[in-house]
Amino acid sequence: PKMKVLVIFGGESGEHEVSLVSAASVIQALDKEKYEILTVGITKKGQWYWGIDPQTWKLNNGTVSSHDVQVTLVTDPANPRFIPVSGNTLPGDGKFDLIFPVLHGPKGEDGTIQGLFEIAGVPYVGSGVLGGALGMDKDRMKAVFAQAGLPIVPHITVLKNQIDNDPDSIRTKVMTELSFPVFVKPANLGSSVGITKVSRESDLGQALKLAAAYDDKVVIEQGVKAREIELAVLGNETPQATVPGEIIPCKEFYDYEAKYIDDSKLIIPAQLNKKTVNKLQEYAVTVFQAVDASGLGRVDFFVTDTEEIFVNEINTLPGFTNISMYPKLWEATGVSYPELLNRLIRLGLERFHRLN
Ligand code: ATP
Ligand code: MG
Ligand code: MG
Ligand code: MG
Repeated sequence: PKMKVLVIFGGESGEHEVSLVSAASVIQALDKEKYEILTVGITKKGQWYWGIDPQTWKLNNGTVSSHDVQVTLVTDPANPRFIPVSGNTLPGDGKFDLIFPVLHGPKGEDGTIQGLFEIAGVPYVGSGVLGGALGMDKDRMKAVFAQAGLPIVPHITVLKNQIDNDPDSIRTKVMTELSFPVFVKPANLGSSVGITKVSRESDLGQALKLAAAYDDKVVIEQGVKAREIELAVLGNETPQATVPGEIIPCKEFYDYEAKYIDDSKLIIPAQLNKKTVNKLQEYAVTVFQAVDASGLGRVDFFVTDTEEIFVNEINTLPGFTNISMYPKLWEATGVSYPELLNRLIRLGLERFHRLN
């Protein structure tokens, strides 16, 4: 019999729409000879619905109709399954062999839903609770990077309550420890949502307020003038890194629009010295292991003109459309998109069986 892969997508984060596009690509590329595909869509309000088509949701803005069945994951490791929330019946038994979360951002990529999968006793693709959590929190992620001896940019972390009550001390700290431009970011998010490039003191307050609207922790980073280089990592205990790819943002920085609306360019492989490429691959694996990631991760770097390297971040569930950097990097390294999905599924099962 075919293996039942349940793809789950959407979700409450600011990256809901991106997730729908990634999920549509994953569903299309999964080998139908090998897998029976089941789906669950999570609305922006966090309700789970059975059998959703992500493309349809993308078009109708996530409208749920009266015959869509709301479901919940049963926390019964001896018999993991989805059941209808009220009165309805499912077209099948609600059972599956593995969950493939194609979710980005908080409550999808940050270890929270992975915690639910652990409690329910189901195998799933990608990082566990710790890997997801460390990969989402830019403040804690940097602490772990620093401890691993990885090069990172100078930064300051502030809490929302400090932004509200004592903005002057933040301003002073920024003026003494960093120089403009700085990047102000919500600690836990992705797709550049809530991020502002701040080039002068007078714009700092507004940027802090915006970031604090998304998270109660905000990171202020030294801006660097550098190329943006990304590497894809795949594996569990012996992760492998791809060739580097370069992003040429079509805007002042790689913001939400530059990522998904305008066409920024990807150059694969990035033109870099062999020594720099080796260093990047070594760092990418160190980053992956430092945050305790599993399965997959895309590591984002800044590389200056003199090829000085800074690690920016890791994304433990990176963009996964067929034109996204993660699958493109593997393609350039000799692993096709469908084969990449096979490997991710195998890695998810392997991790589950090792731990259970
Ligand atoms: P994603 O998860 O989609 O990759 P994100 O929301 O986690 O993105 P970052 O990758 O940290 O955000 O930053 C988004 C973009 O902002 C970067 O790709 C880069 O263009 C710019 N940027 C961020 N930090 C800096 C910095 N310190 N110096 C220069 N540019 C920066
Ligand atoms: Mg990110
Ligand atoms: Mg991200
Ligand atoms: Mg990034």
